Amino acid sequence: MPKRKQLLAFFALAAFAGCAAAQQYPNHPVTMVVPYAASGPTDTVARVMGVAMNKPLGQTVIVENKPSAGGILGPEQVKNAKPDGYTILIHHIGMATTPALYRQLRFNPLTDFDYIGLINDVPMTLIARQNFPAKDFKEFLAYVKANKDKVTYANAGIGAASHLCGMLFMSAIQTDLLTVPYKGTAPAMNDLLGGQVDFMCDQTTNTTNQIKAGKVKVYGVTSKKRVPSLPEIPTLDEQGVKGFEVGIWHALYAPKGTPKPAIDKLVAALQDALKDETVKKRFSDLGAEVVPLSMATPAALEAHLKAEIAKWGPIIKKAGVYAD
Ligand code: ASP
Repeated sequence: MPKRKQLLAFFALAAFAGCAAAQQYPNHPVTMVVPYAASGPTDTVARVMGVAMNKPLGQTVIVENKPSAGGILGPEQVKNAKPDGYTILIHHIGMATTPALYRQLRFNPLTDFDYIGLINDVPMTLIARQNFPAKDFKEFLAYVKANKDKVTYANAGIGAASHLCGMLFMSAIQTDLLTVPYKGTAPAMNDLLGGQVDFMCDQTTNTTNQIKAGKVKVYGVTSKKRVPSLPEIPTLDEQGVKGFEVGIWHALYAPKGTPKPAIDKLVAALQDALKDETVKKRFSDLGAEVVPLSMATPAALEAHLKAEIAKWGPIIKKAGVYAD
């Protein structure tokens, strides 16, 4: 065969092999990296989604926790993973707030990832240890203001939803409090239940069961409207913290350069999972709501992330909170 023909045959074969490999995706388990501790709110969302995506993917989704204060190591791990569709990231609003919070972030949410799509919206709750000496929000506020040098506020580090909520809350009530950072709100919740810390603001995916079991005190929800699964709990806005609203959204990402056929398959699996009645119910029981399918796409996530970065950047800069 002349050299040129040999070369063409070689490229045709290579393209065919590449296509076949992409078509076979996935032929082994997919790892979903969670940037916080196991059993926490983001981990809960990951595990519900992982199970629901098994079937449409035809492969097991393995949830891997990469806990760190602020949730900044998980995205870095996924950024550096092979872009083959076998490592994906689940993350929340932290993808939009960390660029403003960290002077030296080792990943860029806008350039280091391919987008898969949004998952759900989760409100937060202001909760305290069971024996906290305040029976309602009014008393809570008065106590916190009068004891600001000793009241402790747990969170999952700078960049976590619990940190963002606390930071906005402290600024709204114009009171600085002592913060205690953890590698996720699962360990923070353990300490709250044990009475080692006083209060925190955490996602309903972590607090609903504790609230319903009466193991923590709850003083309000951070959403604009009340949460259907916790209808008796007033919003903070209703109780006088006017305009206070923090909503947490979760989404899926892949390392930049992941082949399009793999992304397409992941998007289809995400959408299948969001259509699943068991998933919807599991989330709504925990106060969360799946996004409309039109938001579970790469383009919608990209637009949302850009809008959220633009929204939170100035708010964070004004608050003057930074990490190195
Ligand atoms: N969502 C985090 C977790 O799963 C904590 C946070 O963002 O505050 O622990």
